[in-house]
Amino acid sequence: MPRDPYEVLGVARDASAQDIKKAFRQLAMELHPDVNAHDPDAEEKFKEAAEANEILSDPERRATYDRYGHEGLRSGGYAPNFEGFGSISDLFNAFFGGASAQGGPAPGGDLAVAIEIELLEAANGATVEVAYEMVDRCEHCHGNGAEPGTPIHTCERCGGAGRRQAVARTPFGQVMRTVACDACGGDGRIATQPCADCRGKGMVMATRTVGVEVPAGIADGQRVRIGGRGSVGGAGAPAGDLYVLIAVREDERFVREGDDLITVLDVPAPLAALGSSMDVPTLSGTASVDVAPGTQPGEIITLRGEGMPRLQRHGHGDLRVVVNVQIPRRLSDEQRSLLQALSATITEDNMRADESMFSRLRRSLHFHHNQ
Ligand SMILES: [Zn+2]
Ligand SMILES: [Zn+2]
Repeated sequence: MPRDPYEVLGVARDASAQDIKKAFRQLAMELHPDVNAHDPDAEEKFKEAAEANEILSDPERRATYDRYGHEGLRSGGYAPNFEGFGSISDLFNAFFGGASAQGGPAPGGDLAVAIEIELLEAANGATVEVAYEMVDRCEHCHGNGAEPGTPIHTCERCGGAGRRQAVARTPFGQVMRTVACDACGGDGRIATQPCADCRGKGMVMATRTVGVEVPAGIADGQRVRIGGRGSVGGAGAPAGDLYVLIAVREDERFVREGDDLITVLDVPAPLAALGSSMDVPTLSGTASVDVAPGTQPGEIITLRGEGMPRLQRHGHGDLRVVVNVQIPRRLSDEQRSLLQALSATITEDNMRADESMFSRLRRSLHFHHNQ
């Protein structure tokens, strides 16, 4: 006759579901072969605990057991079945989740480094030298951790596999997982005389430089990944990646909006009225733009293809030239009288817009939005 499940788990008859779960986990922990290797009955005890848990963690089964005992469960069709599991590890995995694929030589860590470039470099693309701290292979021992010329032995703890089974605590309970061997650090081999430079680790902290290829069209806040230039991994494991975070310095002349550039062109009021040809800065130098007669404040002149190159695509954005009509702040006597004479001749017809009030409003809002 099987034992009383309350007795097996060591809980009171009115124990909560939480108490039962906790008691079972506690017991499973104690019976696990990694923790308790010398108890020959551990497997049987674990099966008994698992069965007790199966009965008490199911409210219906628990109620049946409480009223009719094991006989009642059996006549109700319940039959515990923990046979057929190869080992206690399999059993444990069935309850607490499978082993992870971790362990063995650890892959190298990813690294991040930040650089700042000019807008022109972002426009044209650039190669930027960057220095960064990384974990690199020790040059003295070539990464094997042994003083050159001294023997290296197979790790006794893991038998050279570099990994072993262990119980890990997770928010979901105890989980059996494969972890790197702590005796050899996952290499499976141990140096008899550790390397003097790296103290047997096979790796050292080092400052390295790399030429970062910044592609044309990159934007502030984007990053460039350089595969394999992160920290080196353990024996045979891949190196990490280096992520270069790009900051694009602000440019006095341009505001960037996606692939478009925006610049402000100051146009003296008389020239805005008369029309003029003026120079604006571009990425490659200057360009001449036609300011049409009657150009209004906030009007935008678009130079197609004079913006930023599109990242990893063909073509360029546009350069949007926002006209800022400048009103003279100081006037000479002669200028004042000229303006007075002009002002006397101005009629409503001179000022009439060819556009509706709404489109003027929209333009004005757009202008302020871009300021
Ligand atoms: Zn070394
Ligand atoms: Zn080992």
